[in-house]
Amino acid sequence: MRLNSSIKISRALMSAAVKDGWISGSLESVPKETAEAVVIGAGVVGVAVARELAAKGGREVLVVESAPTFGTGSSSRNSEVIHAGIYYPPNSLKARLCVRGRHLLYDYCRAHGIPHKQIGKLIVATRPSEVPKLSELMSRGVENGVEGLRMMDGEEAMRVEPQLYCTKALLSPVSGIIDSHSLMLSLLGEAESHGAIFSYNTSVIGGRYEGGRLQLYVCESESLRNWDRASPLKPDLILSPRIVVNSAGLGALPLAKRIHGLDDGIVPTPYFARGCYFTLSNVRSPPFQHLIYPLPEDGGLGVHVTLDLNGQVKFGPDVEWIDGVDEVSNWLNLFDYSVGGDGANRFYPEIRKYYPDLRDGSLEAGYAGIRPKLCGKQQIPSDFVVQGEKLHGVRGLVNLFGIESPGLTASMAIAEHVVPQLSHHFN
Ligand SMILES: Cc1cc2nc3c(=O)[nH]c(=O)nc-3n(C[C@H](O)[C@H](O)[C@H](O)COP(=O)(O)OP(=O)(O)OC[C@H]3O[C@@H](n4cnc5c(N)ncnc54)[C@H](O)[C@@H]3O)c2cc1C
Repeated sequence: MRLNSSIKISRALMSAAVKDGWISGSLESVPKETAEAVVIGAGVVGVAVARELAAKGGREVLVVESAPTFGTGSSSRNSEVIHAGIYYPPNSLKARLCVRGRHLLYDYCRAHGIPHKQIGKLIVATRPSEVPKLSELMSRGVENGVEGLRMMDGEEAMRVEPQLYCTKALLSPVSGIIDSHSLMLSLLGEAESHGAIFSYNTSVIGGRYEGGRLQLYVCESESLRNWDRASPLKPDLILSPRIVVNSAGLGALPLAKRIHGLDDGIVPTPYFARGCYFTLSNVRSPPFQHLIYPLPEDGGLGVHVTLDLNGQVKFGPDVEWIDGVDEVSNWLNLFDYSVGGDGANRFYPEIRKYYPDLRDGSLEAGYAGIRPKLCGKQQIPSDFVVQGEKLHGVRGLVNLFGIESPGLTASMAIAEHVVPQLSHHFN
């Protein structure tokens, strides 16, 4: 049957009286629907993939999103920086898709009037001992194809940014900032204009691969929210799509683990790293014109300075490893996003390394985001993982794992990378 309206989907969900247990009972009586292409998750990556599938692949696309609207996960809890592509190992997916994604993003922003600014970035060494690391970053960036990188001595950098302290700086003129909500809204509008349907408040809770066909178990997020976690969890609907892109962000790994018939061994262990932001208050104008980044730290890029398009200055994110997150909390985004004011005490000394005039009491709690990581504390940083059927043998399924930073920058390139892998399923 054609999935031609979101009303149809929600009616199907509404009318699907749950009778049989999922874990213990039969699924015979659960309503079933076919679909051409399903994208799980309406973050920036899911929306970009849906747009690409609908526009370029001409697919009938259904986007299933557990939240009441798009972009409420990591896609609205980040630094909104358009990264250049400096940090990542040459030839890694992060390096390639960041550089390609940046070009696509700037072109898209210009063509569609998405608010953005190419303000450039300074990565700074604040001690002579950090300078070799800065030089390594420069070489890596050049190898990755990042344009215009230039080393500045401390004096020059501090002339350009009078509030800055550093011994040396790496200038990346192609880095910038973007209004990520406008970007998602525009991509979503295009996806919808090509026929994609977004079904919100709808969660995928698992699936089964059998006889060459993948089935997705779907339920209303409300049922999942009210689930007592003791009785069997039951789907309201079984969807049988030809193409599935698992773009569930923080929920992607636990979801893959719930797909029976997908080899558990190829699904990496999830790790989560919270990052908090503090905003700068009591200043008449931003102290910096560029993004200012210290050298990267374990798990993140360091507590950096980001400016948003309204001129607000924010510092962050730090790195706090969290564990004990259950799958339902993942799917419903029930993470603790609170930012305690006392966290600022950790920020002041970090920031004063490059912004010595930061005044006491000028940091206010901002917001937090959570990174979907594939490696834990002090492990070698992992790459994006894009798993297609060649790897896992499940026809029509692409899993996107570990889409942390620079996932916003890379979003359109990820879509461009994923869709051709599914082209043999197109008619
Ligand atoms: C602190 C922080 C700072 C960052 N800074 C930057 C930056 O400056 N520049 C940059 O390029 N990148 C940055 N990133 C990375 C970027 O934000 C992410 O890579 C990107 O937003 C990932 O998008 P996504 O669509 O994969 O995930 P998400 O935005 O998390 O979307 C996944 C969606 O899937 C839904 N979902 C989950 N489970 C289910 C389910 N079972 N069924 C249905 N729906 C489900 C969720 O509700 C969510 O809406 C940062 C990330 C963090 C955390």
